[in-house]
Amino acid sequence: MRNTSEMKLTIGHLYPDLLNLYGDRGNIACMVRRCLWRGIRAETIEINAGDSIDFEKLDIVLLGGGSDREQMIVCRKLRKVREQFRDYVENNGVVIAVCGGYQILGKYYRTDAGTIEGLHLLDLYTEQGEGRLIGNIILSSELSDSPVVGFENHGGRTCLNGCRPFGRVLYGAGNDGRSGYEGVIYKNVIGTYLHGPLLPKNSQICDYLLEKALARKYGPVKLEKLDDRLERAANEYICRRFVKRKEQQALWPCLRRCLHT
Ligand code: GLN
Repeated sequence: MRNTSEMKLTIGHLYPDLLNLYGDRGNIACMVRRCLWRGIRAETIEINAGDSIDFEKLDIVLLGGGSDREQMIVCRKLRKVREQFRDYVENNGVVIAVCGGYQILGKYYRTDAGTIEGLHLLDLYTEQGEGRLIGNIILSSELSDSPVVGFENHGGRTCLNGCRPFGRVLYGAGNDGRSGYEGVIYKNVIGTYLHGPLLPKNSQICDYLLEKALARKYGPVKLEKLDDRLERAANEYICRRFVKRKEQQALWPCLRRCLHT
């Protein structure tokens, strides 16, 4: 295996001053910590409203959630570097985009107050529906063999338009409360409604993103396993609490494995 102590990742936190709902920055703390535990260096660059962005320096980009108003401001700023952002995505740059950050990667977000033109990096779109979709959420995802857990709070309903979902909803609403889909996966981009924050609650997803970022920079890597007993116990607790016992039996293999082994 390669010597990970020579490796370094740079994480760009885009607009923490505007997109800062529900502790989404905890995703950064989790990525940095899981790197350090393996001897991989990790630095974070915070890009706030007045700063320029050099996507070539970044290995991972995080966009958190925000209110409609803040999304509009962020969108206006990101539109100026849309081409560079698109190149970064098309060249397999890793992106984790949560809620408002997820919505703005698409074509548009239509609200009662008007339509926010998105960045058109993904083929999806979002329209505000009646009432907000709020609460705990549990998914099965091809990226994790234990269920993915989180918390959602959004007025927008996202239509994937044929894009690949991040997961299937086992409990909660997901993209639109109807389709059973949650989030999106495109190349090395994950868009999701899961706050919570996502990565400390779902360590396999964190390692998936780290592996992708390292592979892009250094070639294929296999990350050393960490002791995730605590994370798995927390995950299992949420599943037992929210998925009804009789439904647990019939659910996806990942949930059965997690609950009954
Ligand atoms: N403003 C968006 C919505 O309500 C996103 C909210 C969020 O990021 N939590 O759909």
